[in-house]
Amino acid sequence: MGGNEQKYINEAFKTNWIAPLGPNVDAFEKEIANYIGANGAVAVSSGTAAIHLALSLLDVKKGDKVFCSSLTFVASANPILYQGAEPVFIDSEPDSWNMSPQALETALRDACYEGELPKAVIVVNLYGQSAKIDELITICNQYDVPMIEDAAESLGSTYKGKASGTFGKFGIYSFNGNKIISTSGGGMLVSNDTVALNKARFLATQARDPAPHYEHSEIGFNYRMSNILAGIGIAQLQILEQRVKARRLIFERYYHKLAHIPGIYFMTELGNTCSNRWLTTFTIDEKEAGISAKLLLDSMAEENIEARPVWKPLHMQPLFKEVRYYSHNEIQNVSEQLFKTGICLPSGSNMKVEEQMRVIDCVQNTLKLKV
Ligand SMILES: *Cc1c(COP(=O)(O)O)cnc(C)c1O
Repeated sequence: MGGNEQKYINEAFKTNWIAPLGPNVDAFEKEIANYIGANGAVAVSSGTAAIHLALSLLDVKKGDKVFCSSLTFVASANPILYQGAEPVFIDSEPDSWNMSPQALETALRDACYEGELPKAVIVVNLYGQSAKIDELITICNQYDVPMIEDAAESLGSTYKGKASGTFGKFGIYSFNGNKIISTSGGGMLVSNDTVALNKARFLATQARDPAPHYEHSEIGFNYRMSNILAGIGIAQLQILEQRVKARRLIFERYYHKLAHIPGIYFMTELGNTCSNRWLTTFTIDEKEAGISAKLLLDSMAEENIEARPVWKPLHMQPLFKEVRYYSHNEIQNVSEQLFKTGICLPSGSNMKVEEQMRVIDCVQNTLKLKV
């Protein structure tokens, strides 16, 4: 936590606003919208809920198709299943590790040919790095398919000077405990379409029609953020820039100490983008480094260092085994390769230099032994 959270929580208690609405919720929405430069925002109980609302607003129904990045956390795609729709997974491209414009184009061309265009394309900005937004939007516009930007991991990042999460018809953020700022659990749906956002508020509070009694003609959800947690969010937003600085510094330190090692390739930052460096990640070329990602992870685990592989692509998950997938091109399957060779290093904003040096020493020593 940053320090001011308790003040807003106390305010909620003092005024007895212990509800999924209240002044903290309104203020948090306004401040997020201001910060990212969007017309509006709706505070909800999780990033997953925000994606689900976005799909509902785009009228995604049973039998519809929704395209989604394959290299991501399962939460990006689960709401497609909640709606009874069918995901189609799109590979990454090697520069940003995010959705391949080439693969998207092929998938949309096929879908158009088959007369089954998707209702939406969910583009994820992995580990804080923006996808190739311009290229992706151009292709989506060509087929008139709306984009949802899953910016759960990229709050505080920018693409061409504009906030990550503001490029699609809808954007979503997460305030889960592991994200760059947290309300313990929570999320935000953002858009320039304030009419759609009002509909989202309606759907997120059980879709209650205007009437003195309880009247319902649509399926609703119980997805609003509590006024207490929104208070935490307001204070967390005040320290977001500080957090981004801290995470970028952590990246710099890792990069400085490890990037020269043969076979280690850090995730690069696309030109014209600024990543929040939510997690510092690199790939390891087994031939050049003399060790596989798996063995390096084992060696860190032995020293009680919690490093992880990168996300397992969703098209490789048992949950999605029947699902269609488009690779980057005929010879490159980028997300599978990233999964095989990628490592996420401990990158918490409050990580001490000594702690980071312990990780760096472990990586250096392991690689020295093997080369
Ligand atoms: C965390 C995360 C989500 C889901 O957010 P929750 O608030 O945990 O529901 C969605 N997509 C990505 C890429 C995430 O990392």
